[in-house]
Amino acid sequence: MSRYFTQRFASLVPYVPGEQPRDMQYVKLNTNESPFPPSASVMQAAEAESRKLQLYSDPECTDLRAKMAEVFGVQPQQVLMTNGSDELLNLAFMAFADEAHPLAFADITYGFYPVIADLNHIPYTEIPLREDFRLDPADYLGIDRTIVITNPNAPTGLSLPLSDIERILRSNPDNIVLVDEAYVDFGAESAVRLVDRYENLLVAGTFSKSRSLAGARLGFGIGNAQLIADLNTIKYAMNPYTINRMTAAAGVAALTDNDYYMANCRTIMATRAWTTAQLKALGFTVLPSQANFVFARSDRIGGAALYRSLKARGVLVRHFDKSRICDYSRITIGTMAQMQILIAAIRDILEEAAV
Ligand SMILES: *Cc1c(COP(=O)(O)O)cnc(C)c1O
Repeated sequence: MSRYFTQRFASLVPYVPGEQPRDMQYVKLNTNESPFPPSASVMQAAEAESRKLQLYSDPECTDLRAKMAEVFGVQPQQVLMTNGSDELLNLAFMAFADEAHPLAFADITYGFYPVIADLNHIPYTEIPLREDFRLDPADYLGIDRTIVITNPNAPTGLSLPLSDIERILRSNPDNIVLVDEAYVDFGAESAVRLVDRYENLLVAGTFSKSRSLAGARLGFGIGNAQLIADLNTIKYAMNPYTINRMTAAAGVAALTDNDYYMANCRTIMATRAWTTAQLKALGFTVLPSQANFVFARSDRIGGAALYRSLKARGVLVRHFDKSRICDYSRITIGTMAQMQILIAAIRDILEEAAV
């Protein structure tokens, strides 16, 4: 730390993204990216737009929001496009949480939430998931806090039915309930269709997982027009141009090719079922996932040891140090060929450990 770094941030602990190693080609199952490339028209659209990079991008993302409105069945003014959903989360925490509306989220969930809360000096409570990692909606009823629900949750992959989300929304009318749906396209129910019914509902989404655009950085928020206007107040106070031209064009093309991406999601769900069965056959406990990853543990090898052994065999998975989950691995669902390599490597590792 330099001697110029302000006291305000001296104790800030930043988020640690999943590793993106450059030393060799890994079977990369650690950051929940899509194993499938963007569709051809997405690449064409981005390339064509690159010829206009001397001009500022549209800060309102007019074309992209019009397309979003069409695909998601909402009005354009109910949509905000952001630089990844991480930016949406930051704007939402700034707009809707403070000392008077402290945050509440699960103890086992997306690691960015406490970091963004700390960055903005917002107090937060971590509500423990149940023993089986299920989120009990009863823990969130009438708690008078700005609530973040990750649905499906990461890294567990477990999801809540919309009826539970609605109970939480109804019992906290004076606070925003932010539903982070980064993984919703892999089998869970989206709360987007509730935004006209609950004025305290804000849904966060991303093109990073189901729409193969992690590197383009494109996320969004959907809520009522007033909430979106509040978020825009903060956005235009920070940086109006967070979406670049190529990303905006890629986003429109990705929504036009929605069928391609939804078909990829179905492929990933089928591969997830295969992977789950294989891991169970090897003695793993696997949580029932509605996301593009599985969360699994073995009685025969710890999470840290499995992570290291897999990495030595060229397969990267995500391991967390947190004590409640340190025996688990979060494994992204890749292509069938990648998952076959993973399963063969695990079989190898368990056999070696047994001798
Ligand atoms: C990946 C992820 C995000 C953010 O993704 P972006 O790439 O910033 O859009 C948000 N929430 C959860 C739970 C995630 O797993």
